[in-house]
Amino acid sequence: MRTWKRRALLPAAALLALTLPLSSSLVLNSAANAAPRITTPEQFFGFPLGAEGKLARWNDLMRYYKLVADRSDKVLYQEIGKTATGRPFPLLTVSSRDNLKNLDRIKEVNRRLADPRGLTEAEARKLAAQSKPVFLLEAAIHSTEVGTAQVIPNILHRLADEKSATVSEILENVVLLIVPAQSPDGTEWVGDYFNETAGTNYARTYPDLYQKYIGHDDNRDWFMFTQPETQISVALQNEWKPQVVQNLHQMGNARGRIFVPPYLSPNDPNIDPITVQQTNSLGMEISRSLTAEGKKGVNWGSTYDYWTPSRQYMTYHGAPRILVEAASAQDLAYTYRSSDGGPIGPQEPDTNFIEPYDQSTWTLAQIVDYLDTSVFGALSNVAKYRTEWLYNFYRTQRNAIDPSADKPFAYVAPAGQRDPFATYELLKTLQTGDVEIEKAISDFTANGKRYEAGSWIIRYAQPYGRFAKTLLETQDYPDLREYPGGPPQNPYDVTAQTLPMLLGVQVDTIAKPFTVSTSRVKKVQPAAPAFPGDPGNRGAYLVGPESYGAPMMIAALQKAGAETFRASAEFSAGGRSYAPGTLIVEPSKAARTALQDASRKTGIPVFSVGQAPRVAAERLKDNTRVGLFRGVNNIPGGWMKWLFEQYDIGFKEVVAADFAGDLNAKFDTIVLPAGISRADIVSGLNRDRYPAEWAWAYGVGEAGWAELRKFVEDGGTLLAIGDSVATARQLASLPITPALPTDEHVFFSPGSILSQRFDTSDPVAWGMRPDTPVWFGENDQAYDVEGGDVVSSFPQSGEQLQSGWLIGGEHLNGKANIVKHQVGDGLIVTFGSEPTFRTWSRDPSKLLFNAIYHGPSTTVDAAELPDALRG
Ligand SMILES: [Zn+2]
Repeated sequence: MRTWKRRALLPAAALLALTLPLSSSLVLNSAANAAPRITTPEQFFGFPLGAEGKLARWNDLMRYYKLVADRSDKVLYQEIGKTATGRPFPLLTVSSRDNLKNLDRIKEVNRRLADPRGLTEAEARKLAAQSKPVFLLEAAIHSTEVGTAQVIPNILHRLADEKSATVSEILENVVLLIVPAQSPDGTEWVGDYFNETAGTNYARTYPDLYQKYIGHDDNRDWFMFTQPETQISVALQNEWKPQVVQNLHQMGNARGRIFVPPYLSPNDPNIDPITVQQTNSLGMEISRSLTAEGKKGVNWGSTYDYWTPSRQYMTYHGAPRILVEAASAQDLAYTYRSSDGGPIGPQEPDTNFIEPYDQSTWTLAQIVDYLDTSVFGALSNVAKYRTEWLYNFYRTQRNAIDPSADKPFAYVAPAGQRDPFATYELLKTLQTGDVEIEKAISDFTANGKRYEAGSWIIRYAQPYGRFAKTLLETQDYPDLREYPGGPPQNPYDVTAQTLPMLLGVQVDTIAKPFTVSTSRVKKVQPAAPAFPGDPGNRGAYLVGPESYGAPMMIAALQKAGAETFRASAEFSAGGRSYAPGTLIVEPSKAARTALQDASRKTGIPVFSVGQAPRVAAERLKDNTRVGLFRGVNNIPGGWMKWLFEQYDIGFKEVVAADFAGDLNAKFDTIVLPAGISRADIVSGLNRDRYPAEWAWAYGVGEAGWAELRKFVEDGGTLLAIGDSVATARQLASLPITPALPTDEHVFFSPGSILSQRFDTSDPVAWGMRPDTPVWFGENDQAYDVEGGDVVSSFPQSGEQLQSGWLIGGEHLNGKANIVKHQVGDGLIVTFGSEPTFRTWSRDPSKLLFNAIYHGPSTTVDAAELPDALRG
């Protein structure tokens, strides 16, 4: 397996400087391992992992893990949850026999160090000396990065079977938790597809999402916790309080052979400096291990930054994120060759790229080998310095609980918020992240402002106050350029995560200490408003449009078959004033049950009036037929599908076969998620390259394209999101023109939260605050408009940036974002920026749901409404 050329040993002086044994293969070849007692991966799978053109399947990998756990007293196999499709999510725990007997004690000590309140320095030192650091290794986070799954059996076998000083030291001093696949579903799909297409003309790479909903974004979910796999991993980290988390990935071939930390600037300032330095030092340790084994092309300080919590939960919880990215092979498992026969990648050595790679080929075996070294390099260091790792972890957590003058004292979410569901979701997110929340039991004053009892308080000085702070504060991303005056240095991902803005919750930052009597909130629950009495047969139920949970009520009413209207104007009833978009619901038993249930889930209050209001309204179409276009490997659509399922919106995916018939016969509204081009619809997947199971993604041709246009002209509603607005423009020659400069020197918004002005009288913007901020990512666009109704636009002047990073905000001044277009008998609504980006942007998600139901609805006069309500 390891047949590629090994670099000659380092000079003796360099060897002395190394604290680590040189290489895994040197030890593996030693006599002590002549007769392994546990089946080797090669014996089990029939080939060495990493062999050319071969991938072990997930089910076989699982069988191997169980076998090793059966035969070894150093390995435990557990299933700690179920994936999005119901597959088991396995965990391997690897350590010495004594440690495995002692896991409860180790866990208890680590938890004590994680929350050092009341712990003295001397006690902490003692505990650090007694316990064992916990090292969490996560593989197959992205299932097409196949080497990360294939390397795990080798690591496991070596730890379970090898009698060497290196392995003994690791087992005695570290508790290793291995998540052999963070996305087991995708790992199975990708491996099976690769094997089943062998010997055919079909492409070998699985073409679709490799996590049920969010595919590659499964590691962009580390603060909203939407997916079961994320929730499992967060629960695991909360339980164990690991000192190190290593993530195995693969990248492209343009750069080095492997990336390790330190990261590129910037660091999120909320990551403790000790955590950053632990990251840097362990990254360097891995680099040293790789270089000492003659593995060239090691690179740090490029591409990947240490900014967004969407990719890293552990860093706000005391553990470094050790990201390792190996370059990829060709078509998953075949040799990658340079195009010119020369060595692969950059050839200029640098301080962060000591040895350029000198070969013209790169194989899966090398990926497996590099990753293996990276894991043992890190493990050996943590084993050797176990007390320091635990003590530094304690120091990190000590910093977290010590009040500091340059940190806020607390965050306060006042009682009586506009959106009770949003408030619940914000608090639940924090609580899932182990943040302690208190509730005021009497009125109090902070920063000169009076707060009512029932307000929520999140103190900064607590073990995971850093996590709360990064989510609650406004991000100020540094203006980083490639060179002075040059183009922006691209962030690896996005730059903003301010939850109060994304969810629409008021949260005040309180700098100075204040006193308040509180109770600790054990489990955040939705508000429980009293449900009103029966309105009687001349009355109606009323629900305000302000909460982004309100569409959940609409979905429940649609399911119940309840007649539902939305007020087109403000009105008063029963001494209370109701905003445009208020739900006016028939006074039936079915409606009552649906509303009661949805109110319990969301905390949204329902009102009842004995006399139905006389106000102009829209009657929602019974059983509105919602279609969500399914694009192959379309991540924005996957997020949206998840959201629709959470809201229990009755919807169907729109697939290629639907375009062959009459779209209007099947759908009232079709949503085109971001990332769908005309070519994705017309050409789709090539049927010569993908078997019939992908027929849903085959192109629909020009006839299908014409059918989509006819769908709108014949009265259908089409919603185009983000960069799919360009597709809708092509479809119907919409009178809007992209307004933003394409040069990144001039305009750049790499995932930020921006200012917005809404026309809240427009049905698409019902329930929005006039100045609700919106998400704006790098593929989003603002428009000049020569027709249509502008629902939202950027302010004419002033600061466009609310959180994150923005260059050239003045180019947005007065430009349109959301526009409604009448096309024939139908409607197209174009959303220049994604209102439901990764479902983080939740307050603006109302816009999408409003538009879904608005298009197919019909209007009712004020005088007619009371009768219409009674059917
Ligand atoms: Zn990856």
